[in-house]
Amino acid sequence: MDLELFKIAIQNANNILIISHVNPDGDTLGSMSALYQVILNNFNKSEQCVDMVYNGIIPEIYNFIPYINKAVSPENVKEKQYDIAISVDIAAKDRMGDSLPLFEKSSVRINIDHHKTNTNFGTINHVCANACSCGEVMLDIFKELDLKIDKDTACALYAAILTDTGGFRYENTTAQTLLKASELIELGADPAQISRYCYESKPRNMVLLHANCMINAEFLDNNRIAGICITNKDMEKYNATNDYTEGLVEELRRIKTTEVSYVIKEVDENTSKVSLRSKTADISVVAQVFGGGGHTFAAGCTIRKPLNIAKDKLVEEIRKVLG
Ligand code: 5GP
Ligand code: MN
Repeated sequence: MDLELFKIAIQNANNILIISHVNPDGDTLGSMSALYQVILNNFNKSEQCVDMVYNGIIPEIYNFIPYINKAVSPENVKEKQYDIAISVDIAAKDRMGDSLPLFEKSSVRINIDHHKTNTNFGTINHVCANACSCGEVMLDIFKELDLKIDKDTACALYAAILTDTGGFRYENTTAQTLLKASELIELGADPAQISRYCYESKPRNMVLLHANCMINAEFLDNNRIAGICITNKDMEKYNATNDYTEGLVEELRRIKTTEVSYVIKEVDENTSKVSLRSKTADISVVAQVFGGGGHTFAAGCTIRKPLNIAKDKLVEEIRKVLG
């Protein structure tokens, strides 16, 4: 993307929509908040000119992200027509959920992302597959355009980078990532406080649900595959919202013998949602078999089958990449 054109497009727009992905995580929410703030702080736009939309539930732990409480559900703005719609951290159109019609009817559609499986669905696409997070992509854009990044913007970007690198632990953590995180701290982001919000502020029932799921986990093929099936009944037992399962799939991968972990959730009787993690095998391939996508070691998809059938099909595909 020609960043100067991006700047001009924002300057000329009367109303702008920023779209985060379904089941929002720290990266999509942090990137959305940062872009919102940068537009308000640098382009002389009023709050009425810029909307943020989310789909589903914003996990409680992310309520600290500045201005995230200004985000609305697509239902609230469905009659509006935007000059520009910008998707952040979204690999494929279906990840926009109910925000998709708003994106489609906007004349300029900008896709800012870091997934290698991104389908370049925008009229303007800015996909940097070597960036650790969409937050890193946003920071690069802001710097390139010489836009002011204040303390709250830095906090949002730091949250995006921190969470998508699993706390600077995953292979997407590069020297650049740490340099950029350092810059954000210089700009006012508080690393200890943001870590506390992201990693030590879980609802009690979320941790209890995780304990229950771990006890019932299934280990296959000499423990190389570790998985959890979650029914709606399990969710009800813990009064859990959809986001409560976040982190489970990583907990399974922590086990030494695990090469691939999966969490598969009942959406309804004919639909199952899958999260996949891996240590070495490319599981984005597995997700793509079912029409999903993601990264080499973190991917996901939806399988239009009942939970148990979906699980068997998933395991079959995992075995193919494990060899
Ligand atoms: P998670 O398991 O945390 O929901 O997602 C892990 C990664 O896989 C994320 O980078 C996310 O973008 C991607 N992903 C998860 N579900 C889907 C899906 O249904 N479709 C696509 N294209 N990507 C997905
Ligand atoms: Mn991301």
